[in-house]
Amino acid sequence: MVIFFKFLIDAMLGRLARFLRIFGYDTVYANDLEKELNIDSIPDDNLIEYAKETNRILITKDLLLYKRFKDQCFFLEGEDVYGYLSQLRAKLDLIFKINIGKAHCSICNSKLEEIKNKNLIKDKLENDTFKYYNEFYQCLNSNCKKIFWNGSHIKDIEKKLENI
Ligand SMILES: [Zn+2]
Repeated sequence: MVIFFKFLIDAMLGRLARFLRIFGYDTVYANDLEKELNIDSIPDDNLIEYAKETNRILITKDLLLYKRFKDQCFFLEGEDVYGYLSQLRAKLDLIFKINIGKAHCSICNSKLEEIKNKNLIKDKLENDTFKYYNEFYQCLNSNCKKIFWNGSHIKDIEKKLENI
């Protein structure tokens, strides 16, 4: 059985949050919570509380925070996002495969829906993107609506993942 974890990602780890969303993990980023609450820095107590309430694993590089919340917290070492992914995969058995249809929006974590007729979004795409790709997905959040496709950026990520 695959356990599909949900995550809360501490500040300064935005790139990791975006990656986990693309891999299909429901991932809340602390900086987005701060924006929502209109505060500069969310206190550790609130992060712990939020992780508990929403049943998320808190991922942090803050050793003190980790020590306070060991049961539901994962401590990362190093600086590199692929290094982070390899630590997560080793400890939590995560699967890092990109299936855009099952991804969460990298910007806002909402679910995506398939665009059945690409002509509807033609004006939002570069000409070449429109021409060479046929499968598109759009974020369901009406304030975001970001469009995703299996472009070269996705293939680059997959290639790098093979090497970790
Ligand atoms: Zn979005």
